[in-house]
Amino acid sequence: MATARKPIISGNWKMNHNHFEAIQCVQKLYYRLETDDYDNVDVSVHPPFTDIRSIQTVIESDRMKILIGAQNCYFEQHGAFTGEVSAPMLAKLNVTHVIVGHSERRELFGETDDEINKKVKAVLGNEMTPILCCGETLAERESGGAEAKVEGQIRAGLAGVTKAHVASMVIAYEPIWAIGTGRTATSEDAQNMCAFIRSVVRQAVGAEEAESLRIQYGGSVKPGNIAELMAQADVDGALVGGASLEADEFAAIVQYRNH
Ligand code: PEP
Repeated sequence: MATARKPIISGNWKMNHNHFEAIQCVQKLYYRLETDDYDNVDVSVHPPFTDIRSIQTVIESDRMKILIGAQNCYFEQHGAFTGEVSAPMLAKLNVTHVIVGHSERRELFGETDDEINKKVKAVLGNEMTPILCCGETLAERESGGAEAKVEGQIRAGLAGVTKAHVASMVIAYEPIWAIGTGRTATSEDAQNMCAFIRSVVRQAVGAEEAESLRIQYGGSVKPGNIAELMAQADVDGALVGGASLEADEFAAIVQYRNH
């Protein structure tokens, strides 16, 4: 029997919003969202590291139900790793969700599948939830290699992760050609790849874990296309970049049921 998966919609702010702007954005989002919205959807925001303590203070003092996220972390716990931030440091700020292996990290900063797998384990080991990103380039899609690319990323990202941890995770399918381009995958393409990802997890880990894990779609999600994406059986949420920077627009995405 199919498990009811609570949708999760996450705002990836990337390298945008200083800590003053971050506080304003979170406050505005809080005013726009209703109690019902959090009952229906988990909502996380992923600001730059320098904003996390500021938004944590605001979120906790006003008892907002917005979940605190991060965009990355290092896999070692502490030590001589200049410029890095560890999973325990994020956990101490009550971060609950950490994006791991975003295509910008993979492409611009050369992150490998092996490093991403270590990050997944570091996040889980510190009782947070990784949002493991995967997705193909346009060339890979056009040459028919999209599924092989995504399968490789998922198998490598989940290698050695316990079944219970896999069941609690989030995977974000983000076709690289749709990120920040205004070009969204059709809801059918998104569904097909999310169903394929679930089948890979079913084979690699188990049926129960595949059923319970949540899969987000990401790539130019907007208030105008979210409802159709969310209507797909294997799409359990969205990872939103550009449209999460403006609280009104992000709130309209979270409130997709009202459209
Ligand atoms: C992203 O980078 O995670 C993303 C989905 O960006 P955008 O929504 O701007 O395409």
